[in-house]
Amino acid sequence: MVKFLDLQQINESYRRQMHEALDAVLDSGWFIMGKALEQFEQEFAAFCGTKHCIGVGNGLDALILCLDAWRELGLLEYGDEVLVPANTYIASILAISRAGMKPVLVEPDEKTFLISPDQAARHISARTKAILPVHLYGQLCDMAALKSLAQKHGLLILEDAAQSHGASWNGQRCGALGDAAGFSFYPGKNLGALGDAGAITTNDDALATTLRALRNYGSHKKYYNLFKGYNSRLDELQAAFLSQKLPDLDAGNEHRRRIAQLYQQHIHNPGLNLPEMPAEPARHVWHLYVLRTKERQRLADFLLEQGIQTMIHYPVSPTHQEAYHELAKMKLPLTDAIHAEVLSLPISNIMTEAEALQVAEAINQFR
Ligand SMILES: *Cc1c(COP(=O)(O)O)cnc(C)c1O
Repeated sequence: MVKFLDLQQINESYRRQMHEALDAVLDSGWFIMGKALEQFEQEFAAFCGTKHCIGVGNGLDALILCLDAWRELGLLEYGDEVLVPANTYIASILAISRAGMKPVLVEPDEKTFLISPDQAARHISARTKAILPVHLYGQLCDMAALKSLAQKHGLLILEDAAQSHGASWNGQRCGALGDAAGFSFYPGKNLGALGDAGAITTNDDALATTLRALRNYGSHKKYYNLFKGYNSRLDELQAAFLSQKLPDLDAGNEHRRRIAQLYQQHIHNPGLNLPEMPAEPARHVWHLYVLRTKERQRLADFLLEQGIQTMIHYPVSPTHQEAYHELAKMKLPLTDAIHAEVLSLPISNIMTEAEALQVAEAINQFR
């Protein structure tokens, strides 16, 4: 059986370290906003190359809090328009709605599935105040083009880096490529906790200070509240677990690149569109390996018969969700085609090369 993602195995090699981390937190008697969180925040900021990292409850909150903090700082207002790719995971769009702003959905680039800077430019209005590019599947958006667009129109850039921990352009990592970035440490992400967790990275001191208050009831000082805040903190235990795993993130991502390369070299089936392998200086971290085929269900069934699990990211686009019924009439032909045709192959930091070859072999048998 080739599992799509074996979370038990991924965490198994940390069993002893995690028990020690648990003991240290138990011994400290401090469970929220203590030394373990501070340490992980410093480590993750250093990893991303940013001045600040603010741990929060999850990836969705990371995005919401950041937009909300910009509003508290007077840089955004309720009702402002935020550009976002139409084919993202729904959390990117929910964050904009939850922050009281208006998501403006943009069709992606046909080859990369990432937000198209040209399409984004066409949607800019007088109310457009920010862009929320999503580094979907672990691949970086065209940040140079997005930045020049942002500069020209005075837009803030909030990276959704929930799938792209460690991805880099010319040595500079995501998290440091916009004005701020939201990360998720949901268990299945490239850096995953043993529960929910998230973070924001930024170089902006004022934003960081506001976020530290917002995540903690809007309080900057115990029992004094500057804002109508949230309770969204990354707890000590998850921070301690993440500190155990962070040192191996680069090696894990390197291994994912190797698996993707094997797929690229060994899959020969004319009916399938394989994802592009970005050239240096781009470093893709392959959170997902997503191919496109009009025969998706047949291929998935065929692979499952041979003991190979696949998944669909994502079967229903945000505009076809009941939650966004008001957007159902939007014309997004490329986004709709992507959602109808994508299939994700197994990939992880522990999948073996033999398993990757087995998957490739099986796909080559598919007619
Ligand atoms: C996982 C994910 C999120 C949300 O993260 P959670 O920690 O699950 O709230 C946001 N955006 C994208 C693109 C994601 O993949």
